[in-house]
Parts: sequence; C-alpha cells; structure tokens
Amino acid sequence: MSFSSLGLSAALVNAAQERAYREPTPIQTTAIPAILAGRDVLASAQTGSGKTAAFCLPLLQTLVNKPRGETRAVQILILVPTRELATQVGETLRILAQHLPQPVKLAVLFGGISINPQMMHLRGGADIVIATPGRLLDLVSHNALQLSAARTLVLDEADRLLELGFADELHQVVTLLPVQRQNLFFSATFSPQVTLLAKTMLHDPVQIEIATTADTAPDIQQRAIVVDAKQRTQLLRHLITSEKWPRVLVFVATKYAADLISTKLRRADINAEAFHGEQSQGKRSQVLSDFKASRLKVVIATDVAARGIDVSQLPVVVNYDLPRSSEDYTHRIGRTGRAGESGLAISFVCADSANEAHFRLIEQRHKIKVAREYIPGFEPTLDGAASGVAASDATVVVAVSDPNGGIKGKRPSKKDKLRALAAKSE
Ligand code: AMP
Repeated sequence: MSFSSLGLSAALVNAAQERAYREPTPIQTTAIPAILAGRDVLASAQTGSGKTAAFCLPLLQTLVNKPRGETRAVQILILVPTRELATQVGETLRILAQHLPQPVKLAVLFGGISINPQMMHLRGGADIVIATPGRLLDLVSHNALQLSAARTLVLDEADRLLELGFADELHQVVTLLPVQRQNLFFSATFSPQVTLLAKTMLHDPVQIEIATTADTAPDIQQRAIVVDAKQRTQLLRHLITSEKWPRVLVFVATKYAADLISTKLRRADINAEAFHGEQSQGKRSQVLSDFKASRLKVVIATDVAARGIDVSQLPVVVNYDLPRSSEDYTHRIGRTGRAGESGLAISFVCADSANEAHFRLIEQRHKIKVAREYIPGFEPTLDGAASGVAASDATVVVAVSDPNGGIKGKRPSKKDKLRALAAKSE
C-alpha cells in the first residue's frame, strides 16, 4: 500500500516520504480514505500509531484545490488537550504542507502565554486552527476569530480532553460551529465519557480500531526494579551512568519532585532539567528543544506535561513514581519505541509502599507479567520488602511507610497516598 494509492496528491506524498514515512501505518490506511470521503471517524489511536498524520494528510488534501483569498475563514478546527500536542500537531501540518501549491495558514493557539501575538496572527484569518479549548474560547470572546465556516472538527486525544475537565469548553466550542460538519475523534482509550460524547456528536462514523498485534505493537522492553523509595534518586544516577543511556525521560508524580530530582542530578554533573505545568511556556519549549537536540540528557517530567511529547530516538523511559492509572502507563512508556524503534521502559516499584499492589494492577490491566529485579547495592532494606512480599494491605503499608501517621484500621485516602508519594520523592 502506498500513500498515493490512498488519494493524496504528489505534494503530500513527497512531504510524507521526506519524513521517512515509507508506507502508511494501519490507522492511516483506513482513516485517510474515510476522511477524504467526508465521513465522520471514531478511531482508537494508540500512541505512536501515526494518528497525527492519519488526519493531517487528508485534511491538507481537502484544502488543495480550494481557492483562498486574503482573508481566510477557519475551515478546520483541531482541538487538543495540551500545549505540547498543539505545537506537535502544528509542526506536523507545517512540514506536510510545505510542497502544496498554495500556502496553508495555520494558527496554533494555547494558554500560558500572552494572547496578543495570537490575536495579531489571526488577523486575516487562518485555514486551520489547532487549539486548546480554553484559549480558543478566550480568542473568540475577543472577536479574534470566527468558527462559523469550519467544516471539520477534530478532537485529538479526546479521552485526555475530557479527563482534564474540558467537557464544558468542548460543548461551548461546538455551539460556535456549523451543525453540518465532519467530526473526527481520536482517542487512546474509550471511557464511558468519550463513548457518550461520540454518540452525541458523530454521524454514522467509520470506526477504526487497530488491534495491537506483534506487527503493530511498539517494540518496548518493560522492566521493574524493586527499590526503597529513598534510594530511587541514587539508583537513577547509577543507572544513567552505568547503562550509558544517551537520553532518558523520567516520570514523577509531582512538580516538586521534578524540580528536586533534576537539581540533585545536576549537582551530580548529570545534564538534567525538570518539565512540568508550572514552568513558563518559554522554559518548557526550551527544555523540549534541548532534549530533542540532545543538548539535555535527562528530563524529569510530570504526566500532564509529558503527554504528547514526541522525541524520536528516545531509548529509555523511567517511571520513578508509578503512574496513577494503567492508561497513563501506556502513554508514558509509549514515549519510547516510537515509529518502529525499539525502547526500554523501567518502573521503580517501591518495596516500602503500596507500589507493588499498584504495579500488579497495571500488569493485570495490560495482561503482562514483568519480572521484579534487584540491583546490587540498591536492594530494599525493609522487612518483607527484601523477600518481595507484596504490600497488598493498604493499612499495613501506612504503618510501614509512615510510622507517625496513618490511623490503625483506616485505609489511606487518595490524597494521603499522593502526599506520601510526594514526601518520598526526596
Ligand atoms: P503519532 O502516533 O501521530 O504520535 O506518531 C508517532 C510517530 O510516528 C511520529 O514520530 C511520526 O512522525 C511517525 N510516523 C507517522 N506516520 C508514519 C509512517 N507512515 N511511517 C513511519 N513513521 C510514521
């Protein structure tokens, strides 16, 4: 199967080939003709599946023969949950559109930076808008853009949009769009919320579910190392040095932990930076571009910030803190092993917390079994932990990990667990 046989013009096929896309991925093979035919699409798109190009290529194709004047009405609206994903989708569109006979005007809009340059950029309109919902509505309320001529709405990472609480904004945006339009939903997971939204918004959609087979599954080796919580930074340092990883993305539970661990690594002469939602947009962009250009070796990131990061040739991801959900686990480890490369995902499982039980749950959900490893010099020291005994009873865990806290017989709340995690990230 080739890109040209899917109905794409030579300019787009060439641009795809220049990006080393030799042939369409399974999601592209199905989505591209459906989108070109004007159909609604509901796609379960795993991370790394090539979903961005699956909608960018056909949407650019629909602009090819459309005459466009000086003032451009927004034709395509792409809603995304995070700034990084907005930037990444914008970048993919820019590169894929570069050989088109008529230039395509893109507007990438997100919060956390001044609104004025975005308002200036929108003078004269735009063909495609890629936006996070909050900033989009801000710009609409400033009369900086109009959406009444948009003929296609894309929700990229629809599950994440809803998880981040954008449901109200989404509904508001929809009221600004024409009733007759094409709707494209891409979502890694199908929560009841996503399914309900899809039911109310999509008309007879082409449903795409790419089964994860040995051919399509990214080649990611998964490892789990049992370690005391307090030893994790030391272990991370040891692994970075002894394994000679050129680049590593490390996930932690809190912004505080990201700042603290990156500072500690820098003190040990390891080129590391934090990456999280409380940094300025300028700082985040700088960290990401330094990481992509290999000027940075280690990035310590939180979940919100790291979703959507696409760094090619990222060989290792480390879960310093375990992710809260098995979906987040998929997203985190999906940062490595992208586009046919192989990758390594290491999870630290703390012997002295409820981590073991939590990691077992992740294993169950993913139908995998990852052998527990012990690294010489970093073996857990707590009773029971050394023998790999699971912390299956949360009450026991509170007593062990926090001798001063935890009331006997009281199960720790979600907040208690988060606080405990934050306290351990030192
Ligand atoms: P995505 O799932 O959109 O995040 O894409 C994952 C990675 O796959 C990105 O780095 C894309 O540039 C790359 N990619 C997309 N389509 C193809 C293709 N047909 N062949 C090879 N790589 C691709």
